[in-house]
Amino acid sequence: MSNAAMPPLLPVYKRAEVTFERGEGAYLFDRAGRRYLDFGSGIAVTLLGHAHPHLVAVLEAQAEKLWHCSNLYGIEPQQRLAERLVAHSFADTAFFCNSGAEALECAIKMARRFHHERGQTERHRIVTFEGAFHGRTLATISAGGQDKYLEGFRPGLPGFDAVPFGDIEKVEAAIGAETAAILIEPIQGEGGIRATEPAFLEELRQLCDERDLLLILDEVQCGMGRTGRLFAYEWTGMTPDIMALAKGLGGGFPIGACLATARAASGMAPGCHGSTFGGNPLACAVANGVLDVLLAEGFLEQVRDVALRLRGELDQLAAAFPGVVQEIRGQGLLLGLRCGPPNGDISAELMARGMLAVPAGENVLRLLPPLIIEQRHIDEAIGTLHEVFHDFAGREAAQ
Ligand code: PLP
Repeated sequence: MSNAAMPPLLPVYKRAEVTFERGEGAYLFDRAGRRYLDFGSGIAVTLLGHAHPHLVAVLEAQAEKLWHCSNLYGIEPQQRLAERLVAHSFADTAFFCNSGAEALECAIKMARRFHHERGQTERHRIVTFEGAFHGRTLATISAGGQDKYLEGFRPGLPGFDAVPFGDIEKVEAAIGAETAAILIEPIQGEGGIRATEPAFLEELRQLCDERDLLLILDEVQCGMGRTGRLFAYEWTGMTPDIMALAKGLGGGFPIGACLATARAASGMAPGCHGSTFGGNPLACAVANGVLDVLLAEGFLEQVRDVALRLRGELDQLAAAFPGVVQEIRGQGLLLGLRCGPPNGDISAELMARGMLAVPAGENVLRLLPPLIIEQRHIDEAIGTLHEVFHDFAGREAAQ
């Protein structure tokens, strides 16, 4: 039986009235051929822009060889991707999946299993942070702890203890005999580009060492070069035990990863976790292509340079329109503008003028351009932002 009120596509998204047909570099084109400057990157995913020639080439080459064979067998691009991620991070080992939420699921299971294998079966709780976002599975909405995502889906998975972001005393107070791990986004993305101080992450590391807990970083949004270093934790003096990646890892091809030290992963044995599609040859070939570009000499340095220039121009705009932009947050090309007017209104106005940005919590508008942007893209973005901020400032003055 059909229900006239229910569209063929389950209506869980409030979609904008635009359908994109193709992309090229930092631009998307809709069905009418209208061009948009893409400073959203599909929510921090299309790291190298659209249709990057190297990614297209590696995808096409892999497509002609092998699409899928299952993790029952060796998969050459997957093996190579694991070796490269391990070589360029704190980790000794990697598990591949298809999304950020799945990467977190692996991280949560790994932390429980670590203590279980050492006979501490009571240790299963994880200290998390208010404002966090870790995905939409039952475990990850429970870990995120936000009412707006749990509403109607309770009971959530038990075992998560949320404390205020950045409050080390509350973290200490939340740790008990059943605590297994601490889970944190070094920069909260959906929560509104809220960054921790490096010292806070270092304190968490110390606490974990003292209390025999595992430290799990969620770098799904802030990892893969977005802050100007391959991983956000590289800005600190600490390393995690486990780290979740996804989004930019595949540059637009779905793939996630859970990286871990040998110690943290020591409970994971054949048969205890898995995924049909995880580590698929096509996804891994593209992720290797993303790494080819990110790891090329000078690339991340260039990202840091372009990010500084963008930030400098945004600071000037914010100073010119203090009622519209109240604060600039973030690092590298993971930037948030805390707005005076509703962020959704500003985002809609930008889109009407051919520029995409993404709203986040705390009335923040995220700017997440692809890492390949050049000065001309900055100029265009600043020009459009200026026009829109000027309009909003005018409306405010008229009220
Ligand atoms: N973790 C963080 C920090 C995220 O930003 C997201 C998605 O926005 C996720 C996890 C979930 O990723 P996915 O939507 O790929 O499951």
